[in-house]
Amino acid sequence: MKVYLISLGCPKNLTDTEVLMGKLVAAGYEITTKPAQADMIIVNTCAFLKTARDEAIQTIKKMAQWKKKGKCKQLFIAGCLPKWKKQDRFSLSPWERELEGEGFETLVDGIVDSIGLFNYCTPRIKATPPWYAYVKIAEGCNNYCSYCLIPSIRGKLKFRKVNDILAEVKGLAKRGVKEILYIAQDTTAYPKLAQLLSKTAKIDGVHWIRLLYTHPLHLTNQVLKVIAKEPKIVKYLDLPIQHASDKILRLMNRRYTRHFLETLITKIRRQIPKIALRTTVIAGFPGEGETEFRELLDFIRWAKFDRLGCFAYQRETGTPAGKMRGQVSAKVKIKRVQQVMGVQARVARELNNKLIGQTLEILIEKAAGGVYIGRSYMDAPEIDGQVLVNSKKSLSPGEFVKVRIKKARAYDLFGSTA
Ligand code: SF4
Repeated sequence: MKVYLISLGCPKNLTDTEVLMGKLVAAGYEITTKPAQADMIIVNTCAFLKTARDEAIQTIKKMAQWKKKGKCKQLFIAGCLPKWKKQDRFSLSPWERELEGEGFETLVDGIVDSIGLFNYCTPRIKATPPWYAYVKIAEGCNNYCSYCLIPSIRGKLKFRKVNDILAEVKGLAKRGVKEILYIAQDTTAYPKLAQLLSKTAKIDGVHWIRLLYTHPLHLTNQVLKVIAKEPKIVKYLDLPIQHASDKILRLMNRRYTRHFLETLITKIRRQIPKIALRTTVIAGFPGEGETEFRELLDFIRWAKFDRLGCFAYQRETGTPAGKMRGQVSAKVKIKRVQQVMGVQARVARELNNKLIGQTLEILIEKAAGGVYIGRSYMDAPEIDGQVLVNSKKSLSPGEFVKVRIKKARAYDLFGSTA
């Protein structure tokens, strides 16, 4: 029996899909990359925001066509969308109504529970390139940011054991994985994070260790010390601040202030001078007037984040923020996102220009049009920039090389092998 899987959403969902694939193969199924050949199709969905749910619905509808005209006999939905839908307040939700129009009952054959914590013995088929792997260290979230559905979809925080995670990383390193990306909804909520990081750095074969999704409130001095000390831990922190106005931070229930962020960022840069800081911010949160938005722009100019993503606030039914007064119009939200990205483009260009003349270690990922494309320690896969590399000798994907940077644009660097 052949199964075709689609993974939507973030790397956390991707690891769930990898486990799902592993379990299916262990149970005797065969994975296919062609929906036309599949007897069964599974869509592992994301429901974080309305745009993600819309994408999931469109994908399910598209896959339903294979069931109508192809070999496919069963279509399953997995992941966050069924969890989101199951909550009482969402009974007969818009997505269900939409699918009903397509004959919902016969269209979707069931729900696969793909959300959860696994251990190093759980079968898993990696869907990322051979040289890097996401490793989930915890599941769920206790933060209850006022705009976010995740705690109600994924539940309370649960942790994996340090030894279990290390056993998984050892197995991955033996199979040739060179970069480990630790993920969770909130990685800094992991109680033994410093210990986990320093033990991971001792595993042979692991070359880069990267920490994603670190909540600013839970970043401890011990973790910063380990990052500063261990050469294998990349000097990169993904620190989603979401906003910088005290009023908006309070409404978001982020439980920190602008002053806290200023102090934290200053401390991080003092302890780890080469650190590359990535952040995400939300523009157009309810109550964000011109004053609060200016505060955010000023902060971005001050903090000079190496990488920044900005999203327009999306109103979510079932969240405290969805009920707040002072919702911002779609037009203003789009304009504000553009303004943030305009400010960040100037910051990024200025920072990238400073790298000209420096030699960086680059992880080569592919060859395209006579050049090689790779990433430096400042770039996480999929979300950050890239480095275009000229080389006289032939390079292979997954290889680390020293590259001298010759040219810079806001989001990309250009260089030659040293
Ligand atoms: S930290 Fe906040 S935004 Fe992130 S998953 Fe938890 S509640 Fe959602």
